Amino acid sequence: SLSRRSIFVKGGNSIEALTDIDGIAFDKTGTVTKGEFTIAEVEEVSGSRDEILEIASVGEAYSTHPIAKAIVKAFETNKTPDHLNNLGGKGIEFDLEGKSYLVGNKKLMEDFNIKLDGSKESNYVDVFVADKEKVLGIIKLKDQIKDGVKESVDELHKRGVKTYMFSGDKDRVVEEIAKEVGIDYYKGSLLPEDKVSEIKKIEKDKRIAFVGDGTNDAPSLASAYLGISMGSGSDIAIETSDIVLLKNDISSIVRGIDIAKRVKKIAYQNIFIALFLKVVVLGLGAVGYVSMPLAVFADVGVALLCIVNSLRVFKE
Ligand code: ADP
Ligand code: MG
Repeated sequence: SLSRRSIFVKGGNSIEALTDIDGIAFDKTGTVTKGEFTIAEVEEVSGSRDEILEIASVGEAYSTHPIAKAIVKAFETNKTPDHLNNLGGKGIEFDLEGKSYLVGNKKLMEDFNIKLDGSKESNYVDVFVADKEKVLGIIKLKDQIKDGVKESVDELHKRGVKTYMFSGDKDRVVEEIAKEVGIDYYKGSLLPEDKVSEIKKIEKDKRIAFVGDGTNDAPSLASAYLGISMGSGSDIAIETSDIVLLKNDISSIVRGIDIAKRVKKIAYQNIFIALFLKVVVLGLGAVGYVSMPLAVFADVGVALLCIVNSLRVFKE
């Protein structure tokens, strides 16, 4: 019944783990948001719109990030980059026709000492396109929150599960989205390894499930008490997680928790039924009251009772 509800659980331990988590930490892009970016604006700084989009598109063709997909879609080109480097949580670096370029966030620009003066903070995801000396332009993208996330966050809170969001995106965007869906605690501007240390911090006194989709989330998925990935996520995210949400839907976690609790309760009931009936029949046997039919019941009947009880897991 867990798979009918589009949640794939890799082992019995993960079902048990679902029943005793204290909090859930979410990645943002592709997890809380759809990860389907659209370009809202291209700010020309020292290059033309086409030049900015073409350079970005050439490099992003070699990235699996959701941002990359939107940029590649926006500008068709058959040029290919050389020496391309994926810098996790920051962007990419590559050569094209003998010149070096950078495409990525503010952190990437700072790493290469590219001046950013004049560009204002916006509520968009800014992708800076620069050669190794200056910014050519800024591609501003917007993502959307997935349907039903706010309701799922509410349901988790009702079950006593705390919510967190850790993202590599800038603080301003992270705060806006966290507030909109009602997440308890959030932090942005994190590199993949920073997400791991944030989770380790809250895991000092809590059991945490981490939910993510990206290659950058794999370290967090592996290190958290429970790792949950999106079915649409990258291969490595799916491989390192314990549970996969086949419909990419956070509400599956809420239903997963409820079903896992029911499975656990029924398992304990079965142990109790079997032990109790066998002890009763054993006691009757000791004082000479056990007939053959009763002895058979104690053996086969108890097993049947437990099976019938287990079928209740499938009840809606
Ligand atoms: P999140 O934690 O929100 O899923 P990531 O860790 O994947 O975000 O990325 C963090 C930030 O790094 C992005 O918001 C973006 O600014 C930048 N970034 C990462 N990869 C790329 C890329 N291929 N092109 C442009 N920017 C990128
Ligand atoms: Mg992500």
